[in-house]
Amino acid sequence: MSFTTIDILDIPFTCTTQLDFIKQLELDLNKPQPTFIVTANPEIVMFAKKTPSFSNLLKKADYITADGIGIIKASKKLNTPLPERVTGYDILCDLLVLANKKTYSVYFLGAKEDTLDLAVKNVGKNYPNLKIAGSHHGYFDINDEKIITNIKNTNPDFIFVALGFPRQEEWIVQAKDEIGKGIFIGVGGSFDVLAGTVKRAPVFWQKLHLEWFYRLLKQPSRFKRMLAIPKFMLAINKENRK
Ligand code: UDP
Repeated sequence: MSFTTIDILDIPFTCTTQLDFIKQLELDLNKPQPTFIVTANPEIVMFAKKTPSFSNLLKKADYITADGIGIIKASKKLNTPLPERVTGYDILCDLLVLANKKTYSVYFLGAKEDTLDLAVKNVGKNYPNLKIAGSHHGYFDINDEKIITNIKNTNPDFIFVALGFPRQEEWIVQAKDEIGKGIFIGVGGSFDVLAGTVKRAPVFWQKLHLEWFYRLLKQPSRFKRMLAIPKFMLAINKENRK
């Protein structure tokens, strides 16, 4: 299976559904080289637009999936609709289910030490058949070779990197070829959700596509970052008029 891409403000989004994407990732496990997934929301698209070094990093991604309803709405507005959201947290959860079923091994990199410990403990409890290759908190020097060596030695199938953007993408790009194989994905604040320290919005909010609003109410410090969303919508309208 190979997916087509759809450009949204110069970012090539992978045209896929959650189900097909997970099937593809299982096939990619047989590739002799690493796979790099970016899950991009409007904030990330706007950041790439003004940061050439980050936009160059995104060029190295094998897949860029639509993380959020804003991207789906934009794709419709531009008359090149993407089928559905394929979010970092949902990919993470489906890969944990897959790893549990097929006894694949996973590595967790990121978050604060106590959050990470809780997340790993919960994963061990809820997915008893997967192998936890290892874990490391996210407050390390990005050039620390020890972590790369450790991951290489433990040979995980999936490497979940929760350092927030752009740090997680920067780390993946400089580490993946040295590690040599595996599926690398930046998953932002997902370990906080696995640990239970941050709750995902209740289904009611998700169905109304107001998950972003729920997060804002719970973490008002995100307000400044979220200003990227109206800017993104304006940029899409401008693009649409071209
Ligand atoms: N984080 C980390 N190292 C850092 C900065 C952040 O491990 O140097 C972690 C942080 O503890 C949190 C996650 O990265 O678990 C960032 O979550 P956020 O919700 O900000 O993700 P984003 O929205 O940027 O994807």
